[in-house]
Amino acid sequence: MALATSGIVLPLHHPFGGGLKVHNPYTERDWERDEGQRRVGARPVCPDCGSSDDFGPRAHEQADGPERHYRACKACGFWQEADGSPPYRVWLATHFCVVRLLPGHVVVACPACGQTIVRAYDVDAVAHRCGKYLTPREPGFSCVNCGQFIDRSFMEPLPSLGSDGTSAA
Ligand SMILES: [Zn+2]
Ligand SMILES: [Zn+2]
Ligand SMILES: [Zn+2]
Repeated sequence: MALATSGIVLPLHHPFGGGLKVHNPYTERDWERDEGQRRVGARPVCPDCGSSDDFGPRAHEQADGPERHYRACKACGFWQEADGSPPYRVWLATHFCVVRLLPGHVVVACPACGQTIVRAYDVDAVAHRCGKYLTPREPGFSCVNCGQFIDRSFMEPLPSLGSDGTSAA
């Protein structure tokens, strides 16, 4: 299987978060099967790009409502909710974000991305690359840590173009 890994310049047929080949619906029952296999160490393969680097079932707690279930591939951005709806391609936005540590604190989680920030010497402001995956419909987001609005000018190419790179139909 040929994987498109150039990833630096996006070809013109790559709409932001679009251009997937047709995939089967994904249901709650599928998610439960995949989650069961993940717990015993399975390394599933993304149906869109064929990578097993970082693909599998995921769960996300929601403040109101039940836990959200989906499957996701961080190589090509293939994302699919376990509700039978069509998959979509997320885009990755990264920006440099400065986290401030309170006096006496050595580590803190970035409130935006959750990354562990470690105090460097006695400096209380530590910069890191803050990454977030957004749906095709999201034009960007306001970073809860630094307040900057992160739009598509912060988009970073994903490692694989997925089926965008192999079937441009
Ligand atoms: Zn993929
Ligand atoms: Zn962050
Ligand atoms: Zn930020």
